[in-house]
Amino acid sequence: MRFTVTVVYDNETLDRSLGVDWGFAAVIVDASGKMLLFDTGAGGPLLEANMMALGFNADAVSAIVLSHFHWDHAGGLATMLHRVPHVPLYVPEVAQGGLPDGAIVVGASPLELSESIYSTGTLGGMEQGIVLLGDRGAFVITGCAHPGVPAFLAAADTLGRPYGLMGGFHGFSDLEKLCALDELYPCHCTQRKEQILRRFPGSAKWCGAGLRVEV
Ligand SMILES: [Zn+2]
Ligand SMILES: [Zn+2]
Repeated sequence: MRFTVTVVYDNETLDRSLGVDWGFAAVIVDASGKMLLFDTGAGGPLLEANMMALGFNADAVSAIVLSHFHWDHAGGLATMLHRVPHVPLYVPEVAQGGLPDGAIVVGASPLELSESIYSTGTLGGMEQGIVLLGDRGAFVITGCAHPGVPAFLAAADTLGRPYGLMGGFHGFSDLEKLCALDELYPCHCTQRKEQILRRFPGSAKWCGAGLRVEV
């Protein structure tokens, strides 16, 4: 399967017509045109505006995956649920807190959400990532990677060889572990973004709202 991944909400942007805000969201479109939204940023209005500016019709989203319940990923959820109330909503399995009505709770194991699109399963009791299986192997997308980047790569590795990684890497510092990856798109909360870009000039690319990646 082939996919296009577009970052629609981030702390930085590649495109001055897009709004910038602390948070993360990405749109994944598969070869049949089906659109999945991974995370919803911190606020609905900016999410909608950026999606529209990038040519996405928010009403055509066919599934929503929430990496974790932090405000900078779940803030736009109410807006999206108002627009597309009947699409599947996949959330991580957390010990406490009320869940949105009808949410599908993803346990600790990887789960297929759509053809060649998987959740990593809930890692560290709080967060799930996305694994896209393309021709080159597994492309992994994280929200904040609070349970640590290696946990996401290990979960993805059970599905296919990880070759690409995008998203917030948070405080991840064991950069040696990124050597085996062909494509790196550190964004959102990645504390060592500059360092990763400098250390892996061949594989790491600057990431922000408006970035499109073919998988
Ligand atoms: Zn977070
Ligand atoms: Zn975050």
